[in-house]
Amino acid sequence: MKYKVGIDLGSTAIKIVIVSDQKIAWKKAAPTLPGQEAFALEMMREGLEQLAGTRADVERIAVTGYGRSLIAEAQVVIDEVSANAWGAFLLSGGEARTVINIGGQDIKIISIDGNGNLMNFKMNDKCAAGTGRFFEIAGRILDTPVDEFGAMAEKADDPVNLNSTCVVFAESEIVSLMAKDTKKENIIQGLHESVARRIAAMMGEPMLADDVYMDGGSANNPALVQALEDEIFHEVHVLPAPQFTVAYGAACFLKE
Ligand code: ADP
Repeated sequence: MKYKVGIDLGSTAIKIVIVSDQKIAWKKAAPTLPGQEAFALEMMREGLEQLAGTRADVERIAVTGYGRSLIAEAQVVIDEVSANAWGAFLLSGGEARTVINIGGQDIKIISIDGNGNLMNFKMNDKCAAGTGRFFEIAGRILDTPVDEFGAMAEKADDPVNLNSTCVVFAESEIVSLMAKDTKKENIIQGLHESVARRIAAMMGEPMLADDVYMDGGSANNPALVQALEDEIFHEVHVLPAPQFTVAYGAACFLKE
């Protein structure tokens, strides 16, 4: 069996996929920490072991993400936006033309042509508002892990209107809402709606002509996806295993 390995050294999480016959045979995510190069290779060995394979079965290693220059033994080094475009294109069966990626520290809106090539992309400014980190900070104040945000938001009956577009101001807005005994559910849904408004403003009209796809770790939050659909009046498809699209796209990238 021959494998392609994709390593995505993201700002927040390391993601690894082992691909066999264009399908994800194994995947794992772990927090980004110092020494990520050795750790990523250790994860790869763990995956190969679970697939009853060895290093000799690896056809090639492709690396992407912020830390992409760190893996010396990679045969392919690719920027994360092109890897995302290609991964989303393949995983959507060639349908994806617009992809919203919400990762740990940025929001990207990516346009793809009919051959899976990156056409252009927009990225949030330096502010972390609306990124995974933004939700994590809010989660700490609310004492609620982000993977519970989706279920909590469903119970909202009167979502708050959060106005702050900056993380620091949003933090104090949440603290003062908590002090007024506002239900956490309503704060969380208000957060989703404010992020959806931010993403819609970034997207603008022209990109809405095509089907919209979403990936990155925050795409695991169904309430955020729903808030975005409500804001842009457009269906948003979530790619399977959305946090791994970029690693998969790198693994399957054709050009070196
Ligand atoms: P990066 O590539 O920038 O490291 P990722 O695409 O790996 O980012 O996404 C990381 C973010 O995904 C984290 O900030 C985390 O909060 C978020 N995330 C991961 N799983 C979930 C989940 N189940 N629900 C909500 N958010 C999630």
